[in-house]
Amino acid sequence: MKGPFNPVEMIRSKRDGHAHSAEEIREFIAQFSAGGVAEYQMSAWLMAVFARGMTDRETVALTEAMLHSGKVLRLPSVRSLKVDKHSTGGVGDKISICLAPLVAACGVAVPMISGRGLGHTGGTLDKLQAIPGYQVELSPARFERVVREVGTSMIGQSAELAPADRRIYALRDVTATVECIPLIVASILSKEMAEGIDGLVLDVKVGQGAFMKELKSARALARALVRVGTAAGKRVVALLTAMDAPIGRTIGNGLETREAVEVLQNAGPADTRELTLTLGTEMLLLGKAERTPKRARARLERALADGSAFERFLRMVKAHGGDVRAVEHPERLANSKAKFEVLAPRAGYVTACDAYQLGLVGIALGAGRTRADQAIDPSAGIELCAVQGDRVSRGQPLAIIHARSRSLAKSEAARVVKTFRIENTKPRAQRIVLERIAR
Ligand code: URA
Repeated sequence: MKGPFNPVEMIRSKRDGHAHSAEEIREFIAQFSAGGVAEYQMSAWLMAVFARGMTDRETVALTEAMLHSGKVLRLPSVRSLKVDKHSTGGVGDKISICLAPLVAACGVAVPMISGRGLGHTGGTLDKLQAIPGYQVELSPARFERVVREVGTSMIGQSAELAPADRRIYALRDVTATVECIPLIVASILSKEMAEGIDGLVLDVKVGQGAFMKELKSARALARALVRVGTAAGKRVVALLTAMDAPIGRTIGNGLETREAVEVLQNAGPADTRELTLTLGTEMLLLGKAERTPKRARARLERALADGSAFERFLRMVKAHGGDVRAVEHPERLANSKAKFEVLAPRAGYVTACDAYQLGLVGIALGAGRTRADQAIDPSAGIELCAVQGDRVSRGQPLAIIHARSRSLAKSEAARVVKTFRIENTKPRAQRIVLERIAR
């Protein structure tokens, strides 16, 4: 494309399958940010990208242009390497809450910008806000101070960081252009790079409860994230992890925060703990705190056993104005008015537990939103009493529904029963990590 900037030519060029230069992409995003490209033009261009794709060079240029649409934090006063983890979204995924303080306790700084629930999946910000008083909005200076002093800070995306992504994401949401690998890559990486990180571990979810249902598409996304993140100068590793059943034993904000606290207290469900340790191992290696996976894992296990990881979490909660007593007595995080047991209709083995449907039940109970302005009920959710591989007898509790009223809890019981498959044969144990992708 030659001559003065012309958004129509930009759309035409992509529509016809041509690659843009880095300069054209920079100009396009800069003009969009300044009002020189209308939202309908951006929408048309997004659809052209959806149909025609982008090369890695274009995706790197788009990531950098979106990154520089706002403030880029450098966190110069934080001396250690800075590494974050980003999950593409799942059900019962409370891993960030136990992972960030654990990794910080092992000497790697974790500046973390988290999101709200999206669709049927939960969001770390909503889970943190189940802790009374926890502030998710900190100024960049305060964020840096908390990362420096505590080793980790978990905040929400402000209008200052990657604002072009916020606007483009909102357009994608309503123009059927979300499921597009180069656009997802630029969206995730521009936000991550705005936090001032050196390294990034990506947890790319695969299965019924994930946005990427098939291994092939999840693998393509993971590979693109690693290639583009590396080309942008970051150390990046991606793990493909299973998301057919929920992670751990809880779905819902207060319940999930309680479970994350249990892991930090060196207990908690085996799969939640395992995923935390696996992702933490990758983070310690990227952050150069340890040289081998074995040593990294041992260090993480020590930080759980000696209480230092939990202590980091308490310090972070305090630095964010949260009520530390609620965390020290985590039963206070899950104090719904009504609890209703869902019973097994027959004896047998639990062979499946549908994360997607349980995510939808969570929303119906008030643990998630169907409109952006909706309030969350932090105590609502589902506690699983039986998970894949467990043997149950008829009438034994499969789950406990936590709700603001007994009638609401009861009305969701039939849907919860249907999420469980119970059969005569014990199922094979499911792997948590399906693949590891690195440069
Ligand atoms: N998460 C993001 O931040 N952006 C996307 O495009 C998809 C998931």
